[in-house]
Amino acid sequence: MTSTVDHIATNAITEREHYRMLIGGRWVEASDGARFDSINPFDGRHWADVPTATGQDVDAAVRAAREAFENGPWAASTPAQRSAVLRKLGDLIAANADELARIQVLENGKLIREVGGQTRALSGHCYFYAGVAETMHGQTVASSVPNMHVFTVREPIGVVAAITPWNSPLALLLWKLCPALAAGNTVVIKPSEVTPVSTVKLGELITAAGIPDGVVNIVTGAGPTGAALAGHPGVDKVAFTGSTAVGKAIAVTTAERLARVSLELGGKSPNIVFPDADTANTVNGVIAGVFAATGQTCMAGSRVLVHQDIYDEFAEALAARVRTIRIGDPLDPETEMGTVACRPQYEKVLSYIEIAESEGATLLAGGRKPSDPALAAGLFVEPAVFTGVTNDMRIAQEEVFGPVVVLIPFADEDDAVRIANDTRFGLAAGVWTNDIARALRMVRRLRAGTVWVNNYRKTNYVAPFGGFKESGIGRENGADAVNEYTELKTVWIDMGNKIT
Ligand code: NAD
Repeated sequence: MTSTVDHIATNAITEREHYRMLIGGRWVEASDGARFDSINPFDGRHWADVPTATGQDVDAAVRAAREAFENGPWAASTPAQRSAVLRKLGDLIAANADELARIQVLENGKLIREVGGQTRALSGHCYFYAGVAETMHGQTVASSVPNMHVFTVREPIGVVAAITPWNSPLALLLWKLCPALAAGNTVVIKPSEVTPVSTVKLGELITAAGIPDGVVNIVTGAGPTGAALAGHPGVDKVAFTGSTAVGKAIAVTTAERLARVSLELGGKSPNIVFPDADTANTVNGVIAGVFAATGQTCMAGSRVLVHQDIYDEFAEALAARVRTIRIGDPLDPETEMGTVACRPQYEKVLSYIEIAESEGATLLAGGRKPSDPALAAGLFVEPAVFTGVTNDMRIAQEEVFGPVVVLIPFADEDDAVRIANDTRFGLAAGVWTNDIARALRMVRRLRAGTVWVNNYRKTNYVAPFGGFKESGIGRENGADAVNEYTELKTVWIDMGNKIT
């Protein structure tokens, strides 16, 4: 395996890791030599650095991907060969999962106990799409035109740009990479500037899996690098996960050349609690649904709608449990909540707590920096619970992407549906009830891409995931996700008509 890392001593105490990016099968620096740092949000240490890709580097990566798509072993590969390298990649991820998980924690402060399991599960993702690679197919069409044999084939789109966020850097990358490769595309990845190292380490496994040079390229950098990639005329499809604002900018860019695009964007998801639900189970489920990953998940159940008859009792039970959440070192398996991932996001979370208070909401628990001096260097915010919230407030309408939950009362099912759907987002929703008929009525009426009943935040490679409304376009996961990486070609064969 080609190593991407040189260890260079930056001073007597700290050793910084130094990584390169992957273009055309070579590990390279930026064309102008510029670099940027990865900062550990727990201790503030600048622990690694990576190149800042220039427009020239982006161009080189897209050209390498184009060359690999049109010529060479990948262009001629069979489904069985693509399946084999995906299986090999799955094996390598399983063997290196602990290291990949540790790096993600250093980059974004997520809990090792969350990321560990999530990273190990990624090998299953590779195996699933290895199977899909060998089972994708077109159709024979029952043509009513005489003497015509008509069929469809699914072909790869070409060069795919995969642009990813920092909250689950490897999972959200594999949601794109696996179906793209299964279908025979080539890929240029632009990871978040907050979490570039885990993607570069995955790049080492991608080359070790025997995926040919140029099939997968990685350019590291911030927004301008992503914009250069999304706007590159050689990119046939952009697969993006990130904020709704950037997703809309990408939709405009790709529309200019009618490039294909799929967007997984933000949310402000309702988690709806009916009086007949089991309180203890619901409290734990609601807390995990919003505070996992320090609230930095697109599907966070950040608007909790509680029936008015149990509102006060439920709010107290929730706040009591929230006050006991153990905040601390994300690498400690006992820790229940880690840091916010980066300073700009930390400032944003604190500003939303101020906004909520200025709007008249009541802070029932948390919302402050912890007083423990051992946590002083970290980007910590105590998990915050707000009551006295109405659905028109900014704190109920805008995505915080941090450990902040608002509790909103409702009167009946109609009222719950009205409040739940009164948002520009439509990513996910939860319903807590033991009444199966009510659960099914709610599932039908909620405008969201995923609805959980008596659970929250479950995802798996077999189950499609994506958003209604401004939460996105397209679906990831599930066998059909491969279709998002194909063009459909129709073939007409004349079986002997005479053309006069
Ligand atoms: P972001 O939109 O700031 O950045 C995402 C990626 O886009 C990064 O790689 C960034 O460098 C790049 N980028 C920034 N500006 C760009 C531009 N103009 N053109 C092209 N690329 C550009 O998002 P983030 O802060 O990294 O992630 C948080 C957001 O992601 C939240 O809104 C969250 O809801 C969303 N998210 C959605 C899902 C989902 O599946 N729906 C999953 C996780 C996160």
